[in-house]
Amino acid sequence: TISMAVIDKMGHIAVGTSTNGATFKIPGRVGDGPIVGSSAYADDEVGGCGATGDGDIMMRFLPCYQVVESMRQGMKLEQAAKDAISRIARKFPDFVGAVVAVDKNGSHAGACHGWTFQYSVQDPEMDDVQVFTVLP
Ligand code: ASP
Repeated sequence: TISMAVIDKMGHIAVGTSTNGATFKIPGRVGDGPIVGSSAYADDEVGGCGATGDGDIMMRFLPCYQVVESMRQGMKLEQAAKDAISRIARKFPDFVGAVVAVDKNGSHAGACHGWTFQYSVQDPEMDDVQVFTVLP
């Protein structure tokens, strides 16, 4: 799964997620990818979020919507990401997944459960992407 959040010069935030889906998925499965708020969500006023992992579980919680709305309520970025993941883990302790979030100022954070997750960041001042590792 590739999930991406972009902030343009005007401060508009766009997110998107592309995935080949779950391993051994049944034909016709609709995963979390096309579910707004599950695999991606953004609001220019707040920030954006992308997700990867057990989509059949994660889509029940709209974790990216949760992250953005928690940030809107004043929760710090990293805490919002951790909170969204822990809401899922409380009900499904064996799920594997992650979210990565960016706020409207370009700060970023990730949270994961069941695996170690990596995401990369680049801004116009950087020559190359920087990779961040998030531990469960
Ligand atoms: N979330 C994707 C799905 O369940 C899989 C993935 O993120 O690797 O379709």
